[in-house]
Amino acid sequence: MDQEELRQLLAEMYAEHKELDPGYSYAKVGRDLAKMIGRQEGPYTKGYIYAVCKGQKGYPVSPELADGLRRLGAVQDGMTEFQAKLQAVPSGVLSMYEVPSGAVIMGQARLCATTGCGLRFVSDNPRRRFCPKCRPARIRT
Ligand SMILES: [Zn+2]
Repeated sequence: MDQEELRQLLAEMYAEHKELDPGYSYAKVGRDLAKMIGRQEGPYTKGYIYAVCKGQKGYPVSPELADGLRRLGAVQDGMTEFQAKLQAVPSGVLSMYEVPSGAVIMGQARLCATTGCGLRFVSDNPRRRFCPKCRPARIRT
């Protein structure tokens, strides 16, 4: 989806909610969206959501916000919050585990720390920095 479509989605989502619940506010949208993506900095402010909704200059829909929108939309369409937070693994991502194709794995893909490797992988350990291919042989089991 491009910026304009995402912005429209946000505006529509807000309008639909507002119709059902007159107490719904931009601040509440900001809280819901931030919660959906587990945003570290806390809720988006009502001013920010308003500016994005109205398409004000300098307020694009950030990739995180777009993610939140997608998940919130899925929840409103009847998906559970857990289901909405699941993401398909992007192609080309390696896993530290042997997994059958089509398996659902929990975790965030990260970039291998080897300069020039460029592989993305899902780690089995929060401290692991190298993909399975670059992992030094001496610690391979
Ligand atoms: Zn690597």
